[in-house]
Amino acid sequence: MLTIGCHLSIAQGYTALGQTALSLGANTCAFFTRNPRGGKARALDEADMAGLADLMAKSGFGVLVAHAPYTYNPCSAKERARDFALTAMREDLERLEALPGQLYNFHPGCHVGQGAQRGIELIADTLCQVMWPEMRTQVLLETMAGKGTEVGGRFEELAAVIARVGDKRPELADRLGVCLDTCHVHDGGYDIVHDLDGVLDEFDRVVGLTRLRAVHLNDSKNPCGARKDRHEVIGAGYLGNEELGGGMDVFARIVTHPALRDLPFVLETPNELPGYAREIAMLRELASRGASSN
Ligand code: FE
Ligand code: FE
Ligand code: ZN
Repeated sequence: MLTIGCHLSIAQGYTALGQTALSLGANTCAFFTRNPRGGKARALDEADMAGLADLMAKSGFGVLVAHAPYTYNPCSAKERARDFALTAMREDLERLEALPGQLYNFHPGCHVGQGAQRGIELIADTLCQVMWPEMRTQVLLETMAGKGTEVGGRFEELAAVIARVGDKRPELADRLGVCLDTCHVHDGGYDIVHDLDGVLDEFDRVVGLTRLRAVHLNDSKNPCGARKDRHEVIGAGYLGNEELGGGMDVFARIVTHPALRDLPFVLETPNELPGYAREIAMLRELASRGASSN
């Protein structure tokens, strides 16, 4: 069974988050660990988190994919911004231990003119300080569109961060992975519309498919290589729309690909809840058709 869900608000708490996910036909979901503008995290309510853990166990949920706010920039040129990212990430990860065994993905950051190499060093050094060997959460670097000075638009950059963490703190190596965002890789120039196999082969060569732990499933408002990062609803953009050179078979191949089909898929499409419910149902249908024809 496909593990699929969407990004949801945590405003009503963790148990409510799980109930909303269930009502949409989801068996995973994503949520911001705190206000996306980076404010204080909500008070930790253990009973609320236990309620979610219970719901997940009873309903056969896969792992959840917590998302760090976009405002963290662990490779900023400003020490204050780097310190904020470090403190907030460490706090997020400590809190996630109350819900053991989940995923935490973050945007590697923008090097803001310092160069990708310096960015990679700063990101890796931050990870070495916020992670610890006994942690039960896996930390995922997200593939980025390569907009502006974003680090992570190339698989090589993600591999370099992982390698540097591995050199400095080998005991952390297996806690670190990658979340592949379909809009971002497409915008970054990886042609998953025409050559999903080729892109995944390249990922395997550069990073290693064993590092791939989650997929953000989004269509894109822009053509391959545009480096824009504007998500579109499934089927309306350059990945899923035939008039734009794509097609729903692109999404069918993604959700049934042997390297991807067992990972959690998270929609981050511009939708309200009913739209997410429709997309989840549609993708489950594509996955089950693909599975029966294999
Ligand atoms: Fe993201
Ligand atoms: Fe994403
Ligand atoms: Zn995005």
